[in-house]
Amino acid sequence: MNNGIISIFTNGTELSADVKTLLTRKLINRGYTVMSEYSGEATLLICIGGDGAFLETIHNCDFPGTPIVGINTGHLGFFQEVLPEDFDKFICDYEKGDYSLQKLNTVQCTVTTSDGVINSHTGLNEITITGRKSYSVHFDISIGGKPIEKFSGDGILVATSAGSTAYNYSLGGSIVDPRLQLLQVTPLAPMNTTAYRSFTSSILLPDDLCLGVVPEKPENRIYITNDGIETCYSDVKSIEVSASDKHVNLIRFNNYDFWNKVKDKFL
Ligand code: NAP
Ligand code: MN
Repeated sequence: MNNGIISIFTNGTELSADVKTLLTRKLINRGYTVMSEYSGEATLLICIGGDGAFLETIHNCDFPGTPIVGINTGHLGFFQEVLPEDFDKFICDYEKGDYSLQKLNTVQCTVTTSDGVINSHTGLNEITITGRKSYSVHFDISIGGKPIEKFSGDGILVATSAGSTAYNYSLGGSIVDPRLQLLQVTPLAPMNTTAYRSFTSSILLPDDLCLGVVPEKPENRIYITNDGIETCYSDVKSIEVSASDKHVNLIRFNNYDFWNKVKDKFL
């Protein structure tokens, strides 16, 4: 019999709730203690839903280091490794230690406002920096402290490798194997005229370089969105985007292959 603690989260759909009831019964029968909230003592976190539910769980648990597995209930499911019908096999493999942990890197930004307030945001997929709807932004962008470009357009997105297949990919960014630790900076509708010049493709940065963003106008309205969570600022002085030291340990079956998953989901 097992006596570990497992925390289970769902996205609130009827299907996910049914799957949760079923899995909870199975786990209790095997001797586990099952909780519906995060416990620091849990040895396993289970998230039932799609990638959106996975992201929400990661944020609600404040980027836990505890191994986490996703049970996919009918969405795209890039993070979600297990189908509900394969749960018995999963728990068997889990107990035998027959799995691997995929260490996912995260991205963070630090926003400094004109009155000196400093705020941080972390993303597992990406952080976007945009302006008010229908208005372009004008940013002075530096890399590693060196001025690089004056960006104009809808904004910029900084994706992790794991997030490269999400919004980044829709914007024409590259798919990155999550074994590569880097940040991908992808422009959102960059302007290229005689007045403004910005990179039109994504650029890749090593994870020890910092991207600096300074809005041209001080009385700006800037939106920071980390994994779909939006925060509006009205007086941003500067923003620094860099790799974060938070990590997510995602459980993968031993037959997991990133490129097979990409092929299955996208082609
Ligand atoms: P959503 O708008 O409901 O979902 C956007 C789609 O992205 C869903 O199909 C979701 O999968 C999928 N997705 C999420 N993370 C992914 C990843 N790492 N690789 C491949 N696909 C991924 O919002 P959500 O479900 O809360 O997810 C938030 C994410 O939506 C953001 O982090 C951003 O990347 C993405 N987004 C995309 C666009 C776009 O492509 N134009 C625009 C805004 C935001 P599930 O169906 O399994 O949930
Ligand atoms: Mn979703």
